[in-house]
Amino acid sequence: MFDALAEKIQSTIEKLGRKGKIDKETLEKGLREIKLALLEADVNYKVVAKFINDIKEKALGADVTKGVTAAQQLVKIVYDELVQALGGEEAKLNLKNKPAVILLIGLQGSGKTTTAAKLAKYLKKQGKKVLLTSADVYRPAAMLQLKKLGDQIGVPVFLEENEKDAVKIAKDALNKAKSEDYDVLIIDTAGRLHIDEELLEEARKIKEATNPDETLFVIDSMTGQESVNIAKAFDEAVGMTGIILTKMDSDARGGVALSVKGVTGKPIKFAGVGEKIDDFQPFYPDRVASRILGMGDVVTLVEKAQEVIDEKEALSMQEKLLSGEFTLEDFRKQLKMIQKLGPLHQIMRMIPGLGSQKILKQLEQAIDDKKLKRIEAIIDSMTPEERRNHAIINASRKRRIARGSGTSVKEVDALLKQFVQAKMAMKQMRKMQKKMAKKGGGG
Ligand code: GDP
Repeated sequence: MFDALAEKIQSTIEKLGRKGKIDKETLEKGLREIKLALLEADVNYKVVAKFINDIKEKALGADVTKGVTAAQQLVKIVYDELVQALGGEEAKLNLKNKPAVILLIGLQGSGKTTTAAKLAKYLKKQGKKVLLTSADVYRPAAMLQLKKLGDQIGVPVFLEENEKDAVKIAKDALNKAKSEDYDVLIIDTAGRLHIDEELLEEARKIKEATNPDETLFVIDSMTGQESVNIAKAFDEAVGMTGIILTKMDSDARGGVALSVKGVTGKPIKFAGVGEKIDDFQPFYPDRVASRILGMGDVVTLVEKAQEVIDEKEALSMQEKLLSGEFTLEDFRKQLKMIQKLGPLHQIMRMIPGLGSQKILKQLEQAIDDKKLKRIEAIIDSMTPEERRNHAIINASRKRRIARGSGTSVKEVDALLKQFVQAKMAMKQMRKMQKKMAKKGGGG
């Protein structure tokens, strides 16, 4: 998401940045470009107007700080504005009651049912006892879908498949949650293709009957301003406490994310970032703003790494790397570790300095997941002995490996060469570290 917008904003700032001080004329030219970029990204026009005005005021009013270029200063101002447009601070869930009730509302296809399961798993991981229910009495398939997801994540799903009264299902589920000591009840509701009075009325009644701690509107970031307006209508008619933005992993232009807080006044609390149940995270405006400006997102990267990578294994890998005992077997393990973090193009975006659209494009051409897979296939086609001792891989072995992995001898050669070079570089580093340690008096 945000790729096109990020590219435009970054190139505009870069152009301005060659000047030491931002003069009015240059700024206005730059802002016109940023404004166009925002409108092209389908950001609500009122939000855009405020955005541009605020930047102008701040940029012209700002004293040029010594040692900071105009571009750096502008980056800071645009960053602050982006954070504001995205909602300011992280908006946490506010669950006071026991059981706490979370009501999910939204249009059909927004990702509501998937999100119910994602949220359930997220809360379960925090040690909460969670109950799911579906009050979608119009689509039996929706109930079954939730049941399936619940089974998958080990969260019970309360269903009344033949009940036609959505309010009754919600009440019964709440009674069950109360009597069985659940911490949280998540209610998935019916969605429609369009907003209609009947649907609003039903949502209102369920809300009245269950007195939810959180009423969250689920919105698909691929849809446009139309759905932002619907969110506003829902808020006015039913009332909500926040928003969950789904499909942030898609190539949506970003308009919904940047507009929805400004239009509804309600914060985005979570983001869906993929189809899998674990592809779900709290929404952090500052981290998203960093990514739009190509500043990377180290915090998310580290959090991800902590979640999927075993620290002991990583440390032993590092030890091996530096000691020069690193084998192709270790290399393969390392590749697997990296892949656990997610698709490469997503990871690269989080690394500061690589986040700029220009560099990213070049890198993506050089390394991609397909190439990683080919490398893995090559190593997989080696015998354990070959992996431990690459020196024995002669011409006939190379041919066999190339055949087995569906690659070419040239690719096998290239991999071996890279591997040897990396090993040498590591040894060099080790030596340097030792030397420096000596100079520093052993400390
Ligand atoms: P509902 O009609 O609102 O209940 O929508 P569903 O939960 O059935 O989701 C509709 C489609 O969107 C499904 O194919 C989901 O896998 C997909 N989906 C939901 N959330 C995400 C997300 O964050 N990213 C992606 N890529 N797909 C999602």
